[in-house]
Amino acid sequence: MIENLIKNELKTYYPEMIKLRRYMHMHPEVSFNEKNTAEFIKNYLLEIGIKDIKTNVGLHGIVARIKGQDSTKTIAFRADFDALSINDMKDTEYKSTVPNVMHACGHDGHTTALLATCKVLMDNLDKLPHDVVAIFQYGEEQAPGGAKPMIDAGCLDNVDAIFGAHLWTPLPLGTLGYSYNELCAAADRFEVKISSKENANLIAAEFVSMTQQIVSRFSKPRETLVITLGKLESTCNEASITGTIRHFDKELHKLVLDKIQKLCLSLEDENTETKIDFIYYGGYPPLINHKKGTEELLSYVPKILPQLNLKEVEPLMIGEDFAYYLENVPGAFFLIGAGNDTFAKYPHHHPNFDFEEEVMKHTASIFLSLAFNSNKVITNLKEEQ
Ligand SMILES: [Zn+2]
Ligand SMILES: [Zn+2]
Repeated sequence: MIENLIKNELKTYYPEMIKLRRYMHMHPEVSFNEKNTAEFIKNYLLEIGIKDIKTNVGLHGIVARIKGQDSTKTIAFRADFDALSINDMKDTEYKSTVPNVMHACGHDGHTTALLATCKVLMDNLDKLPHDVVAIFQYGEEQAPGGAKPMIDAGCLDNVDAIFGAHLWTPLPLGTLGYSYNELCAAADRFEVKISSKENANLIAAEFVSMTQQIVSRFSKPRETLVITLGKLESTCNEASITGTIRHFDKELHKLVLDKIQKLCLSLEDENTETKIDFIYYGGYPPLINHKKGTEELLSYVPKILPQLNLKEVEPLMIGEDFAYYLENVPGAFFLIGAGNDTFAKYPHHHPNFDFEEEVMKHTASIFLSLAFNSNKVITNLKEEQ
């Protein structure tokens, strides 16, 4: 039985996984600067015998192809590997060695799970029906992100299905969070720059209160829309406000963006030389799962991880650039519980963030189940299209 093989292989391999994760955890690199991490991943893939490895895909992306018995079809898995500009406040032997840089989102765990997946596949190529593409992605945390440039560089060429996961401390270890539809909101960033002969602070305050009115007027309960205003910097005659718009609905988003731009124009005033620049940085589209992708995923979980609780989750108000892969190829993204009541109780991006390392085994188990059953998975996903 393939389930027993996966279980045994990962059990043997688990101490190595811990080592890999902790090494990456101690040597984090922020988005778009992940050169050494990329090198580390590439060297590991070479070490386990993978021949077809593309490096510098997009920028620091790595795409490895593992040949199955029949290369006419391909299933892909993605792991991100960037860290954040946060100072690691944990008290552990594997805490970050780099001041103000930390794996505070668990991407070190994602990468380890995918490396372990590759290792087990390489040791069992005779049982692998089709090719597997492992996508190691840089720059997830910061729009415009690494996914789009990697897709533009061809990482999804000849890929028939794709799956990805985010380990998630708000869910306890032993839980899998799924959605048949939207899982993450679209999140985009903007900046408003105000200059005026009048008090720029007052104009900024006006802008803030008016945007909240826009939200309450246009957000129906089902179409959740949130505008978060972040940094407000001001001197007497100048002010700058940064903000994020999170939503699940493209039409609503267009409408709100338009309203904010109009609001900026309405606050301009020739008499007081009040000028307002609206700078739009864009962001990730909403992450929408393929229903069949989630169904396929869920059909293998009880076989490989019978102890796992399956929980349908409300969409998250965070952006995730896995959205781009799902705009191109059918598949699904899921959350996998990594929290506990002690050291792993902190939310993502918290300076005390840590996770239950067992979650890496769960993630790899699911990826491996999908890979060893890719003939059925790909056929079933094709049917939906
Ligand atoms: Zn994050
Ligand atoms: Zn993340």
